[in-house]
Amino acid sequence: MSPILQAMNLSKRYGGRQALASVSIAIEPGEFVVVLGASGSGKTTLFRCLTRLTEPDTGEILIGGQPLHGLKGRPLATARRQIGVVFQQFNLVRRLSAMDNVLAGRLSATPFWRVLLGQFDDADRARAADALQAVGLAGHIEQRSDTLSGGQQQRVAVARALVQDAAVILADEPVASLDPETATSILSLLHGLTRSHGIGVLCTLHQPELAHRFADRIVTMEAGYIIETAHVPNRVVEPVV
Ligand code: ADP
Ligand code: MG
Repeated sequence: MSPILQAMNLSKRYGGRQALASVSIAIEPGEFVVVLGASGSGKTTLFRCLTRLTEPDTGEILIGGQPLHGLKGRPLATARRQIGVVFQQFNLVRRLSAMDNVLAGRLSATPFWRVLLGQFDDADRARAADALQAVGLAGHIEQRSDTLSGGQQQRVAVARALVQDAAVILADEPVASLDPETATSILSLLHGLTRSHGIGVLCTLHQPELAHRFADRIVTMEAGYIIETAHVPNRVVEPVV
C-alpha cells in the first residue's frame, strides 16, 4: 500500500534551536501511528510542518502521492482538506451547535456565497448528522458546543474531520485535557476509524501505556529527531464504549 501522508527529511530551525532534524515519516491508510516524546521534542512542529501551517526549512511532503510544497491558494486548500486536525483544546466555535461545528468541516467544499449566507445543503447536513452519529453523539446534534463535556467536544472535532473527507487525521495531544477513562474512549474512537474508514491517524500522546494499547507503530522523538520506531504487529484492539 502506498502512504497517504509521507514526509521526507523535514527540518525546521528556530533561531539557534533545531526543532525538527531531518524527520521522515509515512502513514499508510488504516494505520494508527503514535508519536511519543518529551515536551519540546518537536512533535507539534512536525504536525505544523505536515500541514504547512509552519513552513519547513527543508524536506518534502506528499499527500496521496501529490507534493504539498509549492502549492498556494485553492490547490493548497484542496490538498489540506485531506488532512483532518484534532487538538488538545478541541478548537470548536463554542457558541455554535455540534452540527454547525461539524458543518464547518465542509467549508472548503462549499461555495463562498453559501458560507456567507450560512447555507449548507441537505446532503451536507445529512453527512454531518451521520458523522455525529458515528462518533456517538446522535443525541447531541443541536446542543451548543460549550455545554458538551470535554470528551463530547473532542468527538465533535473528530466528526468535523470525518465530513471533511480527511484521508488522514493528525491529532496533537487529543486526550491531554481528558480524564483517563474519556481519554481511552477517544483513542478507541480514533482507532476504530482507522479500521472502519481506512483513515490513517498520526497522534501524539504522553502516556506510553496508551501508545502500546492502541498504536500499530510507535515513533519516539527526542530533540527534533526520530530516535526509535517500533511496530506492533497484528494489533487487535477491543472497542471501548
Ligand atoms: P513538542 O510539541 O514536542 O512539545 P514543539 O514542537 O512544540 O515540541 O517544540 C520543539 C522545539 O521548538 C522547542 O524547543 C520549542 O521551544 C521550539 N519552538 C516551537 N515553536 C517555536 C516558535 N514558534 N518559535 C521559536 N521556537 C519554537
Ligand atoms: Mg506539542
